[in-house]
Amino acid sequence: MTTDPNGYGATSFWLETSGDDLTPRPRFDGSGDTDVAILGAGYTGLWTAYELLRREPGLKVTVLDREIAGFGASGRNGGWCTAGLQVSSANLERRFGREAMTAIEDAVETGVDEIGRFCLEEGIDADYTKGGSLVVARGPSQVPAMEQHWAGLEAAGRADRYERLDAAGAAERVRVDGALGGIFGTEYASMHPGKLVRGLARAVERRGGIIHERTDVVDVEPGAGNGQLRPALRTDRGELRADTVVLAGEAYLTQLRPWHRSLLPTYSLIVLTEPLTDAQWAEIGWAARECLASYRLSIDYLTRTRDGRILFGGRGAPYRFGSRIEPRFDRDERTHAMLRRFVEAWFPSLTGIRFTHAWGGPLGFPRDWLPTFAYDRRTGLASGRGYTGHGVATANLAGRVLADLITGARTELTELPLVDRRGPSWEPEPLRFIGVRYVQESLLRLDERSERTGDPPTGRSIAERLASR
Ligand SMILES: Cc1cc2nc3c(=O)[nH]c(=O)nc-3n(C[C@H](O)[C@H](O)[C@H](O)COP(=O)(O)OP(=O)(O)OC[C@H]3O[C@@H](n4cnc5c(N)ncnc54)[C@H](O)[C@@H]3O)c2cc1C
Repeated sequence: MTTDPNGYGATSFWLETSGDDLTPRPRFDGSGDTDVAILGAGYTGLWTAYELLRREPGLKVTVLDREIAGFGASGRNGGWCTAGLQVSSANLERRFGREAMTAIEDAVETGVDEIGRFCLEEGIDADYTKGGSLVVARGPSQVPAMEQHWAGLEAAGRADRYERLDAAGAAERVRVDGALGGIFGTEYASMHPGKLVRGLARAVERRGGIIHERTDVVDVEPGAGNGQLRPALRTDRGELRADTVVLAGEAYLTQLRPWHRSLLPTYSLIVLTEPLTDAQWAEIGWAARECLASYRLSIDYLTRTRDGRILFGGRGAPYRFGSRIEPRFDRDERTHAMLRRFVEAWFPSLTGIRFTHAWGGPLGFPRDWLPTFAYDRRTGLASGRGYTGHGVATANLAGRVLADLITGARTELTELPLVDRRGPSWEPEPLRFIGVRYVQESLLRLDERSERTGDPPTGRSIAERLASR
């Protein structure tokens, strides 16, 4: 298993403070047979297992993970239960029409309450708090983006879940230096990713699901002939055959040849402060633990943890040629240093604060920014993937959609246009590298320039158009 010996690495903070026993579960050994075999013990794989077992308690569900449950993005994220996708309502409406746009956004939003309900029902204390979200315009350059955000919410008929705040209103919630206003949303929650993913794994086991850890899936064999040849996961230690195989590896799926260009692994990085004192919190506010962000093009996200730390996350770590994913990419000193500077810029009263942890991990970015929930009865292969940085609530939705599809139920969820769609593939290398690096660097530069000059980005640059949501 890839761990970080100093305890500051990818798997450590959330998993080590999850309160769960991290001793790896037994490997899958030899060959086997099951009803549903799942690659990946992150939220997608585990929600799918959980929802299947809720619907059909006698089902044999087996989950395989190369490392341990929660090793991937599910155990390292920013702790936001995000009530939306990364693409705008206008974009969804353009592609699918107004009714489908609303159906998709409503469905994703249900993931937030479903996670809260699950924690209550299963007795899992995952620090879940539905404190809402606050996106602030930090400086004049971000005001037009805030106006556009509000106009988009009104046009989509979703403004009833949000509140427009002036500078004083935003400061009443969180005192962010330079904030000229913000938009507060009621439907977001924050939680402890490690407690959620490890609690979910235990809940799956309580319902009879089997989880094998340290088991590397090296190949996937699709089924054929209408059930005559059943699909299988080939591991480094044997083959697991099943009626249905679920691929829930998100960014890591790109390491399997057939899915190499289905997603782009993009690193999101995080720094964590030491716990703040009561006096420091009194200065800042943030009592409701809102999911906090600004309108930077290159994305930032902040969380107040239950134990009183500030988590500051952001994009900007460089894409790696050939979509490589390696433990050493979880850290990028330039990006981590930038995030540490941001904490002091947002909250000048914290100048000199100590940072205790820094980590990161790969997001799965689809070429059209939209997730896919897929099930092909012919091959027996199912998959939920492509959440960009919004996978916490969406993976819960994926679990419910996939469970409905696999058990043959036709529901509102199985009618969503995200089901069984074929998204475009990413370009081959070196085009992919050149394009993605260009956009990443340009967005960072545009943000720096806006912050320096106070002028908003024009929206007309190639990078902005390529990254437009
Ligand atoms: C730093 C960071 C911050 C984020 N912040 C947020 C946030 O605040 N809010 C939000 O909504 N989303 C956030 N996300 C995204 C969100 O965490 C993910 O979209 C979500 O966790 C994906 O879950 P998953 O189960 O599909 O994938 P993962 O959690 O990545 O799980 C995949 C699992 O598959 C296993 N695996 C992969 N390949 C193999 C193989 N060949 N054989 C066996 N096992 C394999 C891996 O070990 C892993 O455990 C963030 C992501 C990162 C990296």
